[in-house]
Amino acid sequence: MRTAAAARRCANIKRMQQKSAANTSRGAPDRYGVVGHPIAHSRSPMIHGLFAASTGEHMIYDRYDILPENFDREVRAFFVEGGRGLNVTVPHKEIAMRFADELSPRAKLAGAVNTLIKLPDGRIRGDNTDGAGLMTDLQRIGCSITGKRVIILGAGGATRGILGPLREAHPALLIVANRSAERARELAGEAGCGYADLAPGVRSDTAEPFDVVIHATSLGLEGKAPEVATRIIGANSVAYDLGYGNPDTPFVRWARHHGAAQAAHGLGMLVEQAAESFFLWRGVRPETGPVHTALRG
Ligand code: NDP
Repeated sequence: MRTAAAARRCANIKRMQQKSAANTSRGAPDRYGVVGHPIAHSRSPMIHGLFAASTGEHMIYDRYDILPENFDREVRAFFVEGGRGLNVTVPHKEIAMRFADELSPRAKLAGAVNTLIKLPDGRIRGDNTDGAGLMTDLQRIGCSITGKRVIILGAGGATRGILGPLREAHPALLIVANRSAERARELAGEAGCGYADLAPGVRSDTAEPFDVVIHATSLGLEGKAPEVATRIIGANSVAYDLGYGNPDTPFVRWARHHGAAQAAHGLGMLVEQAAESFFLWRGVRPETGPVHTALRG
């Protein structure tokens, strides 16, 4: 007579055999991931895991912590070993642009790449889904850009990605403010918008509150917010932090404290830019509503 434990063991072995047969029939899952430094905080594996589960795509998605000096070698190895696509985050977006064999028009416009795609001929295409992700999320929270006064704090890779789509939405004023004012000036020159020092001096166009204040420095990764003049926030301002936190970020708390009408962090943008990358890789557009709910749950 079999014991209960032996019966359980048999059932487990049978389940494992069934699972292994199912995986064998589908082959090994396609490999994707996100590269950055640091990367431990990234929610992208969870988001893409939920997309894969809801669409039935056979894939895995991991985090890769890679130093800038190792980017070329390690990312090339990932693709040579069969990897199909990567998301690229701080501080690699500009290096990734030089790494790619070809660029999408929006990556060229941004001068930064957040998505690498292995093409059927083995070449690597660079794209940028940050701008599309931000615009979809602003729409989701009811924030329109058209005719508004908009300021972006920060002039790194993320700002490069969002500037084009923000401009295309026809704001009344668009200003890039950065710690290194020279970098802001250069970027603003390329994008055809205004620029300022991160702590804007008294200038006619930065002396009154902005309708939309977008935080795009990497300070959030250190649990900090930049020191900027509080007058940029007013009672009608929407503050949007590209960084994200649980439940809030220092910038979101700062904006609320100074009276912003609405303050949101970038988890929504992260989900939307991920959906756009997923579409580029798999040709399937995942539903994002349930993922927004799951991440905030
Ligand atoms: P980069 O490293 O390319 O740029 C960093 C920016 O932060 C630069 O403008 C830099 O200014 C500024 N900065 C860094 N340290 C300081 C400081 N001590 N004081 C003031 N400014 C500082 O980063 P990215 O542009 O790629 O990313 C920026 C942020 O956006 C990150 O937090 C990232 O996680 C987030 N992000 C979120 C996304 C989402 O989907 N939610 C998508 C993309 C990015 P300087 O030029 O003077 O060095």
